[in-house]
Amino acid sequence: MAVLTIRRFPDPVLKEKVLPVEKIDGEILELIKNMADTMYAAPGIGLAANQVGILKRVIVVDVDDKLMAFINPEIVWYSDEVEEGEEGCLSVDPDIHVMVPRSTKIKLKAKNEKGEDIELEAEGLLARALQHEVDHINGIIILDRTSPEERKKALRELANKIRRI
Ligand code: ZN
Repeated sequence: MAVLTIRRFPDPVLKEKVLPVEKIDGEILELIKNMADTMYAAPGIGLAANQVGILKRVIVVDVDDKLMAFINPEIVWYSDEVEEGEEGCLSVDPDIHVMVPRSTKIKLKAKNEKGEDIELEAEGLLARALQHEVDHINGIIILDRTSPEERKKALRELANKIRRI
């Protein structure tokens, strides 16, 4: 078991370009295992590789006791129906939540750990978590998705916390 260090906003690694995985080898499988350990230890329901400083398009999620790992994930369809919901992020602060609008349903394409092409339809919390993690590998965090007012409030809370440490 290896718990990796989660990079926090405003760490520039969260905005760097994240490259596709060319070959699914032992190193990638090890990364997925360590990402899962890190997510569970946090605890969180999703993690993207760049949140632990690895610039590879890999995400893990677990919204109801089922670990899922996706390599080179891409959201190929978003429902028109959008819902606001409260989200936190391990790279912002586990205690800070902001409202983020997300499509209620999505379709995701990716490769699994065996290198097979997979397609998944998701709704509800899983759809939200997948949009959040795919955002990460595209350099987008919840503070970029929320309203200017919520963003300002979250930044103020963050600044207060940092001052207290
Ligand atoms: Zn996050």
